[in-house]
Amino acid sequence: MALKILGYDVGGTKISTVVGNDNGNILSNVRMPTVKHLGKKRLIEEMITMGDAALKKAGVDKPDMIGIIFAGPVDNKKGVVIASPNIFGLSNFNIVEPIQKYYGAKTYLENDATAAAIAERLFGSGKNVDNFVYMTLSTGIGGGIFINGKLYKGAHGMAGELGHSVIMVNGPTCGCGRRGCLEALAGGKAIARRVIENLNAVRDSNFFSRIRPTEITAEKVFEGKKKGDMFSQLILEETIYYLAVGIVNIINILDPELVIIGGGISKAGKDLFDPLNDAIREEFKSMYRPFKIVPGLENGSDLAAISVPLYKESE
Ligand SMILES: [Zn+2]
Repeated sequence: MALKILGYDVGGTKISTVVGNDNGNILSNVRMPTVKHLGKKRLIEEMITMGDAALKKAGVDKPDMIGIIFAGPVDNKKGVVIASPNIFGLSNFNIVEPIQKYYGAKTYLENDATAAAIAERLFGSGKNVDNFVYMTLSTGIGGGIFINGKLYKGAHGMAGELGHSVIMVNGPTCGCGRRGCLEALAGGKAIARRVIENLNAVRDSNFFSRIRPTEITAEKVFEGKKKGDMFSQLILEETIYYLAVGIVNIINILDPELVIIGGGISKAGKDLFDPLNDAIREEFKSMYRPFKIVPGLENGSDLAAISVPLYKESE
């Protein structure tokens, strides 16, 4: 009989709870928007209510194991959230203990981008590839690295912070405090900021002049480009260039077989991958090598939380 896994994705905009099995089938899910000031006690209460509902929906009495993934740095050995950039008051919080106690099932914690990389290894394009890099392109930029078939964690479990390599010295300030990080130029939040800044400077986009600043997103840039908006085209070209520089930096260091790109922005599909492929090829200069860059799993965010305990138990 297949193992039944309860998975939680505690993110900046929503909390998702899924029940899945070790074949990568999702049996049920329950979602709710994240309340930024929920506090530790109420968060656990909500997680238990959602978990019970998801298990009931899936017809599962008790999970065999549990995975929690979190949008921020975590100490996965201790089960502790180190810092919580999106939800207030969760720093230094042991999120594993109360959930493990309630369900009586071994519970594992992991950073969400690392977990998405694990999902690619178990169920996606990384299945038969021993050396690959997973990059998530959403509000921020994160990732995970597999070397010789194993997740590379680094000395402090903090490896894979792909978004915080500087690609523009003295560039815009990043959330991490440095300047000109890839995330500060090509993350979803940074793309929206660049649209607003450039619009104020030139105001030559019919497309964006009709969109309220609070509604400007990376997705809108792709939409504008499709509608022939030159301004969107320029923002997109610049973004692709930043991404290519960042990705070639990674490839030059690690020489992976494959780069997998997931996250919300990757849903742009060909409009992202075709020009990005060309830009990477160009950016290699004399260091060219064969490379593959592919989109991540369609349901990667659902699979991420259930992949964590499966991978940890097989380690
Ligand atoms: Zn940074």
